[in-house]
Amino acid sequence: MTLFDDLENKYLLLTPGPLSTSATVRRAMQRDWCTWDHEYNSLVQQIRHQLVNLATRQAELYTTVLMQGSGSFSVEAVLGSVIPEQGKILIINNGAYGARMVQMARCLKIDVLELAYPETQIPDLNDIEKALQDPKITHVSCVHCETTTGLLNPIQQIGQLVKAAGKVWIVDGMSSFGGIPMDIAELDIDFLISSANKCIQGVPGFAFVVARRKLLQQCKGRARSVSLDLYDQWNTMEQYDGKWRFTSPTHVVRAFYQALLELEQEGGVDARHQRYSQNQQILAQGMQKLGFELVLDSQVPQSPFITTFLYPSAAEFNFQEFYEALKQSGFVIYPGKVTDLSCFRIGNIGEVYSKDMEALLTAISSYCRKHLQQGVSTE
Ligand SMILES: *Cc1c(COP(=O)(O)O)cnc(C)c1O
Repeated sequence: MTLFDDLENKYLLLTPGPLSTSATVRRAMQRDWCTWDHEYNSLVQQIRHQLVNLATRQAELYTTVLMQGSGSFSVEAVLGSVIPEQGKILIINNGAYGARMVQMARCLKIDVLELAYPETQIPDLNDIEKALQDPKITHVSCVHCETTTGLLNPIQQIGQLVKAAGKVWIVDGMSSFGGIPMDIAELDIDFLISSANKCIQGVPGFAFVVARRKLLQQCKGRARSVSLDLYDQWNTMEQYDGKWRFTSPTHVVRAFYQALLELEQEGGVDARHQRYSQNQQILAQGMQKLGFELVLDSQVPQSPFITTFLYPSAAEFNFQEFYEALKQSGFVIYPGKVTDLSCFRIGNIGEVYSKDMEALLTAISSYCRKHLQQGVSTE
């Protein structure tokens, strides 16, 4: 196989990041850019400007920082750069990404109060209200779509409690931003974190933070890391008109610019949300028709991005074989991440349409007919 035989996608990624991108987004990476040239820096500035406008209608209150690395690097940059030495953070944890924030905060020696819930439950607002009575707490963080299960946390209600208590509100909107309508000023979010390779449908390589400008301005000198200093990264982008502090992922940035254009061409976040919701409904309903059971109870808000299914009870079901067979049919799915359950996940974001969901269901149905004698029943 030569390099160029390998340029075509061999399967659709039904994994929420990296995800399947359009051919045009991938093609945008074909040329090299100079990191300090004004042409490139102007692309960066346009991206920053567009991200703020995607996040809110009150753009004047916010600003954006782009940060090298995957999404977690930006989460760590926020935690490590905005909480002062004497600060304390309340972290709401109902999944692997909430747990990762707790791990980061502890590693950074930040005082943490963790409110932990099972991965299939949404947090209790009464608990949060009680926890907020701790006067030492200065910041609160929560994941919006917990990609562990696909549940949507009630960030609007939580945010109201956080703001009534006068705390700084940090939201990990990694797998939701760009795929669900939201206005972060209306939601009173102070720092929203997301990444290039989720709902905006870029390729992996950097993430970004949409921050309330007046709060970010206060973060000078607070960072616990040089490379993950959010303030310094922002200040350089502001002072030098789109310049990154260290080597920037130029090709990825150019691809992201194209991805933003394609989001606009699709009709913006509302249209994308509609496509994702339709994908998710076709998937969840089709899988249930085949006999698969959803992990999330119908009372728990399900996101339109990723869905978790229980393994069928049939003794002969083997996830690895199922995975390989689907890959052969052109679909890559995601293993489960819920601690106590045998489950798998299927994402439906990216360059993925309802016809792809239908084709996936056909492939799954045919696999089950061939390999599971008693059908899919999870009894
Ligand atoms: C993808 C994701 C992240 C970041 O994960 P990386 O692997 O570091 O990109 C963080 N939080 C949530 C909710 C995510 O879905």
